[in-house]
Amino acid sequence: MDNDYLVKSVAENGQFRAYAVNATALVEEAHQIHDTWSAASAALGRAMVGTLLLATSGLQGEAGMTVKIQGDGPTGFIVVDGTAQGTVKAYMQNPHVNLPLNDKGKIDVAGAVGKSGTLSVTKMAPGDKTPYTGEVNLVSGELGDDFTYYLAQSEQIPSAVGLSVFVQSDDHIEVAGGFLIQVLPGASDEAISHLEETLRDLPLVSDLLRDGKSPEQILEKIFAGRELKILEKVAVEYKCDCSKDRFETALSSLSKKDLQEMIDQDHGAEAVCRFCGHKYHFTEDELKLLVAKK
Ligand SMILES: [Zn+2]
Repeated sequence: MDNDYLVKSVAENGQFRAYAVNATALVEEAHQIHDTWSAASAALGRAMVGTLLLATSGLQGEAGMTVKIQGDGPTGFIVVDGTAQGTVKAYMQNPHVNLPLNDKGKIDVAGAVGKSGTLSVTKMAPGDKTPYTGEVNLVSGELGDDFTYYLAQSEQIPSAVGLSVFVQSDDHIEVAGGFLIQVLPGASDEAISHLEETLRDLPLVSDLLRDGKSPEQILEKIFAGRELKILEKVAVEYKCDCSKDRFETALSSLSKKDLQEMIDQDHGAEAVCRFCGHKYHFTEDELKLLVAKK
């Protein structure tokens, strides 16, 4: 297993469920696929880390989720698909966003995403005809707080989410990762306020990762001196599941007239996957078959 992985744990004898992830390589991969500039890299990276934490904590088996963040900032909308298995793929409307650092000297993610808008989560299980969708308004645009607010409002799970990406001056992703802590029913007031204090003083996840800390060590730092049981380690990766079949289905939903135009004018069609950039070519003959099926 390389450095990109997520750890699931329970802490303080079942009072908390806690997850931590190092997603550096997969956020770097997204940066390369989409040519994101620094503020866009940080925004897309945080959205991907948040989706990974949400998907691996809240889904079972073959289920997947789509997180859509629609803010009023220059990046436009962000779409991230995640699975229970720890794969993720992402797309952003405008990846070419660079901004001056904010007043804390950090990349201005809220400025890139926008401070008002919505975050929605759609969960799909195989064979499920009516997917579940929850939506909240953005509360900060920094995304960690927005995922926390989503969990509290839409799923009634009190939690804390930390998301962080460090972009180097040459635009490469030095580190990316995060944590999610859920308060379980029966957690004591003492345990909750102790945790809140620890989180207030916790360095950024990006600083911990740059220090060489592993996801396990991040959880150990959060629950220092308290009981912590690591349950599982899950490899995480950027993975697109597109295929020519899928694009053929999309093409076949076009009108006969539109397909005929592609045949007459372009003598074929090219479809580009917006998540991974893979190109699928359809020949004139393939398009004629689709017209014949109409
Ligand atoms: Zn693809």
